[in-house]
Amino acid sequence: MIKALLARWAPRRLSTRIVATSLVLLLAVQLAGLGMLRTTIERNAVVQLVSELEVAEGIWHSELQSRAGGMQIATELLALDTGFGSSFALPEDAPDRRATLESALESLATRIGATVAAAVGQDLRTRASQPAEAGAAGPVMQQVAARFLAEKTRAPVQMVGDQPFQFIAAPLRPQVGGGAVVMGFPLDAALLQVVRTKSRMHVVIVSPGPGGAPAAGISTLPPAQQQDLAALRTMAAERVTLGGESMRVHRVALGEGLPAQLWLLGSIDHAKAPYQEVQRDLVAITVAAMLMFALGSLYTARRITTPLRALLQGSRRIGRGDYSQPMQHTARRDEIGRLALSFDQMREDIATRVTEVRRLAYWDRLTDLPNRAQFREAVQTAIERAEPGRHVSVVMLDLDRFKPVNDVLGYAFGDRLLQAVAGRLAGQVLRHGDMVARLSGDEFALLLPDSDAAMAMAVADRIAEVFELPLVLGEHTIDLRAGFGIGCWPEHAADADTLLSRAEVALYAAKHKATAMLVYSAALDSSSAQSLSLLSELKSALDKDELRLFLQPKFASATGALVGAEALVRWLHPTRGMVPPMQFIPFAEQTGFVRQLTLWIFEACVREWPSLQGLGLQRLSVNLSTRDLLDPELPEKLSAILQRHGAPAGAFCLEITESMIMEEPERAEATLNRLAAAGFKLSIDDYGTGHSSLSYVAGLPVHELKIDKSFVMDMDKNTKHATIVRSTIDLAHNLGLSVVAEGVETAAVWAQLASLQCDEGQGYHMSKPLPAPDLPAFVARWRERQQQAAAALA
Ligand code: C2E
Ligand code: CA
Ligand code: CA
Repeated sequence: MIKALLARWAPRRLSTRIVATSLVLLLAVQLAGLGMLRTTIERNAVVQLVSELEVAEGIWHSELQSRAGGMQIATELLALDTGFGSSFALPEDAPDRRATLESALESLATRIGATVAAAVGQDLRTRASQPAEAGAAGPVMQQVAARFLAEKTRAPVQMVGDQPFQFIAAPLRPQVGGGAVVMGFPLDAALLQVVRTKSRMHVVIVSPGPGGAPAAGISTLPPAQQQDLAALRTMAAERVTLGGESMRVHRVALGEGLPAQLWLLGSIDHAKAPYQEVQRDLVAITVAAMLMFALGSLYTARRITTPLRALLQGSRRIGRGDYSQPMQHTARRDEIGRLALSFDQMREDIATRVTEVRRLAYWDRLTDLPNRAQFREAVQTAIERAEPGRHVSVVMLDLDRFKPVNDVLGYAFGDRLLQAVAGRLAGQVLRHGDMVARLSGDEFALLLPDSDAAMAMAVADRIAEVFELPLVLGEHTIDLRAGFGIGCWPEHAADADTLLSRAEVALYAAKHKATAMLVYSAALDSSSAQSLSLLSELKSALDKDELRLFLQPKFASATGALVGAEALVRWLHPTRGMVPPMQFIPFAEQTGFVRQLTLWIFEACVREWPSLQGLGLQRLSVNLSTRDLLDPELPEKLSAILQRHGAPAGAFCLEITESMIMEEPERAEATLNRLAAAGFKLSIDDYGTGHSSLSYVAGLPVHELKIDKSFVMDMDKNTKHATIVRSTIDLAHNLGLSVVAEGVETAAVWAQLASLQCDEGQGYHMSKPLPAPDLPAFVARWRERQQQAAAALA
């Protein structure tokens, strides 16, 4: 029960508990001390008072004696006086004898201050007295004379009525018949006052009243105390309270057999007074000591609990993952200092280990730049800290043609290239809070807090400029180029993750459109997001046999005969259905996956070749990509496929675009030469969209020019396009090239092309791309229609 209460009320703070405990202990000790002091003071005061009262009794006796002493001599001188003696010895009836004795007694009494006097004969008869009629004093004096003559008792105290008297007796000479002279003095207030003055005790003469209660006679007490004395019930009390004052009673007998007593009264309170001061001082000292003790123990407790609390907070900080702040109180030399020191050691150990783990988790080891995880957190923090109305921008960039460099010059070189790029990027980040990170492969990102899209574009522009300076690595000089995608918070995304994916969408769209830089917009998203997720699935599409070979027939414009077909790939996606190539070819190019794709298409075409040949086709066209053209082993790979199936290279026309060649003209040309040498026909696709001159094209080992569909589709209505098509056909023929028009959508265009002597054409007017297995049926229908037309003509 008590334990439970203590547990409930015990203070939670250690310092309070230390202070409270020490104060309670101190208080207990002090109270015990004060209690003991009190009883000791009481006892000592009483012992001292008793001895002072005994001294007072002595004073009383010596006062009585000294008074008696002076009177004794005077009384004895009178008793020995011859005149007084001869008068006393005269017969009793002698004239004037009594008068002479009485006048002698009177003059002596007056001189020594006695109020009664008598001369008593040996026969105990009073011969003369003063006053003449002594009244009650007469017989008392006779008794005193009798005891004096019998026992030599000289100065007894006797009562005369209720008044105590001291009597003095002196002997008369035997020559005058013997006897005694007796003098009586009342014990008066003056005498008591003398004793009081000398002893400082009150003096009272008390005689038993009715019922044994004390009846006070003369006294030195003030009236109020005297009244209280009269109210007492017994004569035997040792301690009385008079007028509120506690007093010790010391009783002295007045005379033998007398009921009246002399009371000496000493104030106990007075006796205690000097000690009371000590007691008060001690209480004051106790209070002061308590205060000092409280302060002292509070200080000591603080010295212990303050560092303990600091350590507690420190360990909580560590628990929260903040290892940056050193522990306090480590400089102390006591146990707490040592504890703090070992805590701090622990903190440092954890911090180094955590830093190491963080390094691994948050830094890119190749470039020493922050990695994606750190970048993402930094973006998050920047967004959280952004002030209202401010922006946070993310610029993502992806190097152009990094993959071929890596493939051709080796991974070690690729690594050095990435490090050099990281160095250049880091050099561009000037503002505090900006961050450059390597997200993956050749993809980097910049965090620009407090920047809007325009500022981010300016930064991207600057980087593009810096990238224009060729990078010299060993013996190689590399032209760096990159695509940039920019996303801004809050206009493009509400959180860090969305912002990153928006910048990435903009980056892929920029790459896709072959523009240097794009700022995110919602329009980019729908197509790009789809493409992005497709990209990851594409790789498994080959294994799952989801790709399909489509063929678009090509016709001779002069005769309308079927001369060939272009191979166009389709992806039969399990959920999206037929995916057009523009949604995955650009990305397949970026990842390099397109090379596998090309080989797959080519092999499918080679496999189809014998049956197509049977249908009367002279040639199959296959599209190549930039990546293919930069692959020095492409000619060997294609030849190997041809050999496997026993097909001739001359049956295949490889389509390339001008822009593919322009990326790296020397290497592209080298590959083209080897392909041509291997027997492949070559065609310039999408002619007219690039900027190369026909004379440059003529220098290449190409056989065919394919005019882009953007000029062909509307050439019957657009005279400008018609002119371009006509002059292209003329020039190409002059250079010895065959011309193909793609995008023939109407009979009018088809007829126009025939009149311009375009060699071949393909387009929706004749046929859309068809699944390869559908081609025989199409050809059969086509032949039938032609025969019908010919029959109609004939
Ligand atoms: P391209 O090489 O210029 O192919 C011609 C594109 O024009 C094809 O689009 C075709 O369907 C379309 N076309 C044909 N006739 C007409 C017409 O009368 N009007 C219009 N508006 N369009 C017509 P497709 O199949 O979507 O291919 C688009 C591009 O994808 C191709 O352009 C080519 O660059 C690329 N591609 C397609 N298949 C392959 C492939 O197997 N390998 C590579 N590397 N690229 C391919
Ligand atoms: Ca083509
Ligand atoms: Ca084309």
